[in-house]
Amino acid sequence: MPKIYYENDANIDLIRNKTIGIIGFGSQGHAHALNLRDNGCNVMVGLYPGSKSWQQAQVAGLRVGTVEEVARDADIIMVLAPDQVQKQIYDESIAPAMRSGKMLMFAHGFNIHYNQIQPPSEVDVTMIAPKAPGHKVRENFVNGIGVPAIIAVHQNASENAKEIALAYGAGIGSAKAGIIETTFEEETETDLFGEQVVLCGGVTALVKTAFETLVQAGYQPEIAYFECMHELKLLVDMMHEGGMAYMRYSISDTAEYGDYTRGPKVIDDHVRQNMKQVLANIRNGSFAREWIIENQAGRPSFYALRKQNADHMIEKVGATLRAMMPWLKPGNKQQAAPAPAPVASSTSAEPLPTDLQRAISQTPPPPPPSPPPSTPSSSDPVTSWRPQRRDSDTGPTPGYGAGSGFPGTIKDDNRNDPPRESSF
Ligand code: NDP
Ligand code: MG
Repeated sequence: MPKIYYENDANIDLIRNKTIGIIGFGSQGHAHALNLRDNGCNVMVGLYPGSKSWQQAQVAGLRVGTVEEVARDADIIMVLAPDQVQKQIYDESIAPAMRSGKMLMFAHGFNIHYNQIQPPSEVDVTMIAPKAPGHKVRENFVNGIGVPAIIAVHQNASENAKEIALAYGAGIGSAKAGIIETTFEEETETDLFGEQVVLCGGVTALVKTAFETLVQAGYQPEIAYFECMHELKLLVDMMHEGGMAYMRYSISDTAEYGDYTRGPKVIDDHVRQNMKQVLANIRNGSFAREWIIENQAGRPSFYALRKQNADHMIEKVGATLRAMMPWLKPGNKQQAAPAPAPVASSTSAEPLPTDLQRAISQTPPPPPPSPPPSTPSSSDPVTSWRPQRRDSDTGPTPGYGAGSGFPGTIKDDNRNDPPRESSF
């Protein structure tokens, strides 16, 4: 059993006499700042001049300053800017203020684990990562519940790092639900593995391959879409709420028998070997290195892959079918990166369905021309990467950028359904 900490294990008083600087006021930032403030802590928010959130944080009654000011004045600095800009923010604006007695905190471990950020040894470095998107962290806090979180200590200079991080976790409400102990290594590697093998990569590849199999066998793409993609949500929701047994309780016996006997034939030993290989590439840093170099080179493969996948038949068929189901309204999701099907322009003279028009209007801008590869440094990029903030990265485009979870955190969608009791 992992070590799990609750309210009795945490003492919020440990942070009440400290100044807590929250860098960023996005999904996580706003929730951490408001929850800590409501718990009687002294909170400052650090943003860049011109941030759209500056005024929002002030209106919420919080003290706002530049990252430099917050790094200078705060004892605890929680970095809740997008992962891909954290190194630059740290190097330019936080590092100069790092000194003994301060704690640097994160909600995702990539930049520490892969040595993009290297804090001096005299500061504490910890992680508190709620296992929910920010709006849920705030909403549950207001309702007196709290969401589970994980805690990790990377550097324990004060010899009190875990206690202070636990106090922070309690301050955002997570000790009510439970704070599970992990390490930066475990959080980062499992996070990447989960999104590559199941949540993003595995699921989309499974759905696409099944769809293609049916279409190639002569079935109608519309029917294939419903069977292999649309209905997935229903099953995943049930697994999310009550586990696999709960899902199986709700499906037909035929479906359940097919599940047990055919599932392992699809996801066979060969797939297990592939998963092991993906994990090995995460653990030995080669995935991180590849992604860092891809960014240094202006992301030519990333943008090409994004376009190629957006042009897939399943997206075109799906856009048309979803137009028949206006209640799905992807544009209304707050958290999930909008997933409009960015389809190629239609050749038909017919007016496009509204959903398709919306999809096109939200199509990510064409990839910027690739700048000449920024002289990939001769040193290992996992220790030398310097990400560039680009406007094209901050739009509501799926993938990398504000509103997405850089190689990392998957954003839950903002389902607010109350938990349903399992029927067994
Ligand atoms: P968001 O993209 O929602 O918010 C980022 C915030 O940082 C915004 O307020 C943004 O400003 C601000 N920002 C951007 N650039 C700078 C800069 N140069 N200087 C100062 N502030 C800047 O991020 P998330 O809340 O999603 O992610 C924050 C961290 O939390 C990441 O490490 C992520 O992996 C982790 N995490 C996220 C979860 C989630 O569900 N979202 C769950 C668990 C962990 P502006 O408002 O102007 O855009
Ligand atoms: Mg993740």
